[in-house]
Amino acid sequence: MSYSVAIDGPAGAGKSTLSRQAAEALSFIYVDTGALYRTIGLTAARKNISKEDKDGIVGMLDSLSIELAFNDDGEQIVLLNGEDVSGLIRTPEASMYASAVSAVPEVRAFLLELQRNMAKENNVIMDGRDIGTVVLPNADVKIFLTASPETRAMRRYKENLDKGITCTYEEVLRDVNERDRQDMNRPIAPLKPAKDSITLDTSQLDFEGSKQLIIKTIRENLQ
Ligand code: C5P
Repeated sequence: MSYSVAIDGPAGAGKSTLSRQAAEALSFIYVDTGALYRTIGLTAARKNISKEDKDGIVGMLDSLSIELAFNDDGEQIVLLNGEDVSGLIRTPEASMYASAVSAVPEVRAFLLELQRNMAKENNVIMDGRDIGTVVLPNADVKIFLTASPETRAMRRYKENLDKGITCTYEEVLRDVNERDRQDMNRPIAPLKPAKDSITLDTSQLDFEGSKQLIIKTIRENLQ
């Protein structure tokens, strides 16, 4: 029998870094499902398919093979038809494309089994938008991790600067608000807390405080 922890929440709430570290502390595998949507977004961008071209997006799914693997440091890598695209999917353009393709039902269906299989075979912490509501409705622990849009934008802005991605805080805040709007208002798998989830707001916490809170919450609820 394996355990699963679902961590959902808006862009920039710190889900991926916190989930990765919590997984390390608990010896679970960390699955970043946003990377899957980003990979489909990257493919659409590469093929010059517009974000609004639903048929074009659905049409390219047949030729796609996406695999999640782990490198020697235990970090997740994403393989797109065998190519490691883990770095390429992190640009602001890939983010906006990811949000657009993720509103297409066929894209969500395409990724569902892959995500569920990861949880069947391993103790997982899986992060995303609909993990507790759709992908793993029977997860042992469900956390909805959030923070104010301004806090999230400032964190993302600093991350971008560290990675050498040029942008302004205002641009990042606009992107955060736009992605929230798209993710919360889409008819399929909208971003919302599962009924039985625990909401953690990290606006007032630093990274270490958020990390301790999340690990404590998982430990207390994993039985
Ligand atoms: O988490 P991340 O920012 O990498 O996700 C990129 C985009 O993928 C999100 O804006 C969201 O639209 C989409 N996504 C989703 N469902 C998930 C994970 C991500 O719709 N489970």
